[in-house]
Amino acid sequence: MLQRVEIVEVGPRDGLQNEPDVMPTAVKVEFIGRLVSAGLRRIEVASFVHPKKVPQMADAEQVLAALPRRDHVCQIGLVLNRKGFDRALAAGCDEIGMALATSDTFNQRNQGTGTDASIAAWLDIAAAARLAGVSAQITLSTCFGCPFEGDMAVERVVEIAKRVAEGRPREIALADTIGAGAPGQVAEIVGRVREALPDVMLRCHFHNTRNTGIANAWAAVQAGVGILDASAGGIGGCPFAPAATGNIPTEDLVYMLQRSGIQTGVDLQALIDTARWLQEQLGRTVPGMLSKADLFPTRRSS
Ligand code: ZN
Repeated sequence: MLQRVEIVEVGPRDGLQNEPDVMPTAVKVEFIGRLVSAGLRRIEVASFVHPKKVPQMADAEQVLAALPRRDHVCQIGLVLNRKGFDRALAAGCDEIGMALATSDTFNQRNQGTGTDASIAAWLDIAAAARLAGVSAQITLSTCFGCPFEGDMAVERVVEIAKRVAEGRPREIALADTIGAGAPGQVAEIVGRVREALPDVMLRCHFHNTRNTGIANAWAAVQAGVGILDASAGGIGGCPFAPAATGNIPTEDLVYMLQRSGIQTGVDLQALIDTARWLQEQLGRTVPGMLSKADLFPTRRSS
């Protein structure tokens, strides 16, 4: 069993992008600051996509400009193509995250081009990132199911993983973009990709649409995946994935891992406080459970 799991916090990007009301730049910056204070060290802070497609991310450059540079914190910018990459680089992101879908239909709908064209764009971006001295990683969306094509053949996921690995990414993330996956599937897909690419680091990204997110995260850890995406409060969705709901809540994930003896470096109480703060900012309850149930033992009884 792993002793430590690294968490990539995606709340300020994947979490917020489906929120109907645009969060002011200063509030986003405070959100990110609170996450850093809670001990998170890799944070997806913005995406560099067309502002008309995702209005919530229209201030990506302003967010980056307002964030203090912290040597120990990696600020990740999500991109879907070369244009986004150039913007993210100019904005000063420490790390580039690119996403492409294993489902050709989803990729067409989400990024206006086929999977093959996005793989070519990734290889170009990966080379440009290396030249610029910025680390880059790639997320494969819809690995566990696509709203348009249904289940993805594991062979296709493995084949695409092999092709993107040629760009020598920091890691390859296997994403359940719409929250369709189940733990048995996680074990199989992670196992098959690892078998094909034993030297490549893997990350997993789960949504909780069908309440399997946390179970999937545990299955991934048991399969040896040491890096997981999560969003504070469990907010989030995907504007292009029908009915997809939030990412797995960071605080719920940290609770599960810590109680199981796996370190994350995150201050759980600070994270719960952040989820509660986020709740006030959004004006509604967040999906995460820890902000309601509190720690165990509770502060009162401890
Ligand atoms: Zn996602």
